[in-house]
Amino acid sequence: VIREGKKVRVPSSQIVPGDLVVLASGDKVPADLRLVKVRDFRVDESSLTGESLPVEKQTATLEADTILPERTNMAYGGTLVSYGSGTGIVIAIGNGTETGKIATMIAEAVTLKTPLTKKIAKFSTILLYAILVLAAFTFLVGIMRDQPAFDMFMAAVALAVGAIPEGLPAAVTITLAIGVNRMAKRKAIVRKLPAVETLGSTTVICSDKTGTLTENQMTVQAAWIGGKAYSAEGQGYHPEGRFVTSADGGRIDGDNALERLLIAGALCNDASISMEETGHWKFEGDPTEAALLFAAKKGGVNREEAENAFPRIDAIPFESDRMYMATLHPEAEGPVAFVKGSLERVSAMCTTMATPDGHTTPIDYEMVQRAAERLASRGMRVLAFAQKRLPQDQESLSESDVAEEMIFLGLQAMIDPPRKEAVTAVAACKRAGVRVKMITGDHAKTAAAIAHELGLEGDREDHGELRVVNGRELAAMSDSDLLEIVEKVAVFARVAPDQKLRLVDALQENGQVVAMTGDGVNDAPALKQADIGVAMGKAGTEVAKEAADIVLTDDNFATIEAAVEEGRGVFDNLTKFIVWTLPTNLGEGLVILAAIMAGIALPILPVQILWINMTTAVLLGMTLAFEPKEQGIMQRQPRDPKASILTGELIGRMVLVAIVMLVGAFGLFWWELTQGASEEVARTVAVNVFVVIEIFYLFNCRSLHQPLHKIGFFSNPWAIGGAISMLSLQLIFTYAPFMNRFFQTAPLPGSSWVAIFGFGLLAFLLVLLEKWIRTK
Ligand code: ADP
Ligand code: MG
Repeated sequence: VIREGKKVRVPSSQIVPGDLVVLASGDKVPADLRLVKVRDFRVDESSLTGESLPVEKQTATLEADTILPERTNMAYGGTLVSYGSGTGIVIAIGNGTETGKIATMIAEAVTLKTPLTKKIAKFSTILLYAILVLAAFTFLVGIMRDQPAFDMFMAAVALAVGAIPEGLPAAVTITLAIGVNRMAKRKAIVRKLPAVETLGSTTVICSDKTGTLTENQMTVQAAWIGGKAYSAEGQGYHPEGRFVTSADGGRIDGDNALERLLIAGALCNDASISMEETGHWKFEGDPTEAALLFAAKKGGVNREEAENAFPRIDAIPFESDRMYMATLHPEAEGPVAFVKGSLERVSAMCTTMATPDGHTTPIDYEMVQRAAERLASRGMRVLAFAQKRLPQDQESLSESDVAEEMIFLGLQAMIDPPRKEAVTAVAACKRAGVRVKMITGDHAKTAAAIAHELGLEGDREDHGELRVVNGRELAAMSDSDLLEIVEKVAVFARVAPDQKLRLVDALQENGQVVAMTGDGVNDAPALKQADIGVAMGKAGTEVAKEAADIVLTDDNFATIEAAVEEGRGVFDNLTKFIVWTLPTNLGEGLVILAAIMAGIALPILPVQILWINMTTAVLLGMTLAFEPKEQGIMQRQPRDPKASILTGELIGRMVLVAIVMLVGAFGLFWWELTQGASEEVARTVAVNVFVVIEIFYLFNCRSLHQPLHKIGFFSNPWAIGGAISMLSLQLIFTYAPFMNRFFQTAPLPGSSWVAIFGFGLLAFLLVLLEKWIRTK
């Protein structure tokens, strides 16, 4: 907003009617605005009007009865700016806005659907039919054996209740929620729940360069004008230091050509810098542009003075796919347009170039190109500048005005070192079987130099440099060639945002699970298409965040790697829960089936089964969601998302445990009856066999492959707490009179407990043995 004549950034909750709000492409409109100034201003109002195409806005007055979708001089809160820039006065905020009024209408229930829950839903349907068939079968077998129909009906119900894993949906939700929480602690905010799971199977991460893989700590260190090289002293966001000529290190005074280059950088600029009371400098806006302001100051050019002398009358904002920005300023000799942008775009606009001594000569493209490449191959970000005088009365700027006959002013190059954490994270990804690709709008040489420092792996040129494919080559490439290139090459430069979509498509075609970063409006389609769309929390636009699955609050590549690690942990824990819970269901079903076959009373009643399933799922199973990540989780290959959750190994283990449950529960039930115990006592024993085996087996399940002593008994205190609580509950279940009445249970003598715990221990040792054999 503009308050007291100054542009300030405020939380949208603090905007009031009457505020003057400044918007640019990628912003979310914070309130309802009457537009007063627009520049190619287009707004995506689909959330409000359903209109899928962006609406072009203007400022003229409209008829009073104009319907909402046609009020082109308004920008509505909650809609997204897809192009250009604009300014408007706030007329309504919060619930007073058009979106606010219908907020309750559009509030919809979110249903939890992830690839895993879909798989589980499918599995449940199959299970349901199988159980129905089995229950009917049980019923018929009983009837044929002349058992009473009512008893057989109860048996069928018991079978169904037992075989259905009631705790599963809750466990999935809670485990995912805990995963979301863990990721948030590591600075990755999950916007769409399926991402938690998909992250774990990510095979390729396509990352932006600037700010994500690099520090975004830009400092202009070099300049170049018509064959003369300059360097700037100092580093970081402050104006201490001077420009010197590279040749003799001498002081530059009254260098008009340099001054002109720095003025272009200062005026064709939307950032602002200021000194705080503490003496520290800070900036608002794009780091690239801030660096230009500090550079200008080092060369004696002050943004404010320049701005006062030549106020901006019009501008073409920077867009990633345009790769330049232009502004128009009045000067005595007539209005002048400044352009800054990529070398390719800017040099193509020029016919002449400035010389260090203040004259102009025809532009030597090759010389300029070589100079830029020299700077870029040191990993520097190179910007080119140009100017052009326009007819005296011209007051607005269009793209055609700057398309030709400009004067090339020179280059400014800034360092942007790779993040140290990114170097480590790239190496970690490599070990984890996740490939990293850099996709940048920057120059090929800059990209290659940074990629090399980061240790990216991919095809190399003959002389050992990483192979870079640029946007132009991409555009000319056939889809089938792309499929091959996209696998081999690690660095893509001068890529326009819409080409990211093609890259994601190609990778997915090859069967990769792709995480793709983005920050601009034009990145939204690629973010949506990627398996994991990753938006930048700081530098990203609202549009990109809206389209993304996760948002990085620190814009750091290392955070993506951390999220992948957490994603793997979550999936592990879900698998552990499933492997832990299903044997009980299978065991319960088998016990009922066996009883019917043997023609004896039910060893466990339907309510008792419900008791087992519900209490153990919460007190025991849930504790697996808190299981810390296993060691070496980032040393294994990504999980194939198509592979089923349960491997043959795990299924074998589950059957083994189910059989121990069957033998224990059925055997002890039968044995108690032959010893003259009541059915209540015998059933109480059977129920406790199930629960106690589940407790022991829980500790087997804390790791899918490692034995308990390797991961440490105490490393998940929740599991220990859960086991103790569950045992206490079983004592109440067994000895409390009200429980006895309700669940038809009875107190047990100590000797029964010995047998029960014997089976628990047996199950534990068998699984231990089974894991040991597997590792041998
Ligand atoms: P990336 O973020 O991948 O490094 P960008 O899309 O931001 O790439 O920038 C691509 C190119 O556009 C840069 O190499 C530079 O030449 C130019 N550029 C970047 N920022 C600006 C800006 N604010 N104004 C003008 N040109 C810019
Ligand atoms: Mg950028």
